[in-house]
Amino acid sequence: MSEDTIAAIATPPGEGGLAVIRISGPHALAIADRVFQPAGSRARKPSEAPTHTLHYGFVHRGGRRIDEVLLAVMRRPRTYTREDVVEISCHGGLLVARLVLQAVLEQGARLAQPGEFTRRAFLNGRLDLTQAEAVADLIAARTERALAAAREQLEGGLSRKLHRLRDDLMLALAHLEAQLDFPEEDIAPDTREGILQRLQAGLQLVEELLRSAEEGRILRQGIRAAIVGRPNVGKSSLLNLLLGQDRAIVSPRPGTTRDTIEETANIRGIPVVLVDTAGVREAGDEIEQEGIRRSHRAVETADLLLHVFDRSEPWTPEDQQLWEWFRHRKRLLVLNKADLPCRLVLPPSDEPRVEISCRTGEGLERLKTCMENLIWSGTAPRAEAPEACINARHQAILLRARTALEHALGALHDQLPLDLVAVDLRAATDAVGEIVGQTATEDLLDIIFSRFCIGK
Ligand code: GDP
Ligand code: ZN
Repeated sequence: MSEDTIAAIATPPGEGGLAVIRISGPHALAIADRVFQPAGSRARKPSEAPTHTLHYGFVHRGGRRIDEVLLAVMRRPRTYTREDVVEISCHGGLLVARLVLQAVLEQGARLAQPGEFTRRAFLNGRLDLTQAEAVADLIAARTERALAAAREQLEGGLSRKLHRLRDDLMLALAHLEAQLDFPEEDIAPDTREGILQRLQAGLQLVEELLRSAEEGRILRQGIRAAIVGRPNVGKSSLLNLLLGQDRAIVSPRPGTTRDTIEETANIRGIPVVLVDTAGVREAGDEIEQEGIRRSHRAVETADLLLHVFDRSEPWTPEDQQLWEWFRHRKRLLVLNKADLPCRLVLPPSDEPRVEISCRTGEGLERLKTCMENLIWSGTAPRAEAPEACINARHQAILLRARTALEHALGALHDQLPLDLVAVDLRAATDAVGEIVGQTATEDLLDIIFSRFCIGK
């Protein structure tokens, strides 16, 4: 349990209807007593109030009334941090909130670091590390599917699997260690067999978890899709259509999109960063060349290309050049201007294609389906309901666990001495413990929680 009491503005900076100042720690109630004047004759001081109650009154600082507030008293352990927590809702506006925070700090609280409330929730055993990480995912989620996956992880969907895995491995390790004192010839063959089966089951679960890494990456970071094609085919129009708003400049004159434009669209629950490129082509003036350089970079780093063609115009040498450039990329061929008569003949190819009209919106749903299929192609089949997915940290550790388990299985198979098997098995068990935070170092916690915002 922490010695000091922390405080922070928990709401985002800027003006708003309300701002919330959060206080957590052993002195939260005493500090609240000193800054808060309850209204009404029968009102009680925060330290005398029952837990989970709301109080109306005023915050004072240096004898002056700062704001009219609602103050929530939440006594440990049923709180976010498992410490005493006080939350003061004051009027929105940065100055008001800052003055309330200042009053709280002057009465003995310390300004919280990013993620420190959640870090305390973790240290006090309310959340394990994967759940704490899910809090950050939840806040950062940009689509409902990403949100649902984060919520599932926060509620322990991933933790339960990992704890079960760790328990199984520890049991196998216990069996194994019980045998270590006996000479090798005294070990019953079915003991070896039993341990073997447990390890195989463990390895299977590790593989299953590893398969969710790609979906986790896609949901957390989104994917980058670059819109390419010669000028005037409708790239900016396509961006606007996918975003459902007029963000990019659409113009009948070629080369208007001077720079790359990036916007995140929600394509069937996947955050897709769409990059409109300034026509990947030669020459032009200084500004245009810079735009072209940026386009090249955008195209190189994209996970997916939307290669747009104007199907109302015949094939051009420029189309041909771009066709060759991008033929080995993961791309969707988008045949735009389907509202006009068709004059385009595409070279033969078995790449996915879709006809669309950015003018009428016809074909938009088909385009989204094609994008969705292409994005998930090559990843594991997904459940209907979003499930918790591992993140990059979990993946790195699980890869280690997998190697250790494979070594342990190999050693068992080759009838090597059991203490060699035990070394690998212990490494695998420790790795799984590291994911949930059973063996977390301060450095690791610093890295994880520094990604949070202040007040969370
Ligand atoms: P970009 O240079 O590839 O970004 O192309 P724009 O999006 O700026 O579009 C070029 C021109 O084509 C504009 O005049 C658009 O209004 C027009 N355009 C775009 N999509 C369609 C479409 O589906 N049908 C028709 N008829 N015109 C379109
Ligand atoms: Zn454009």
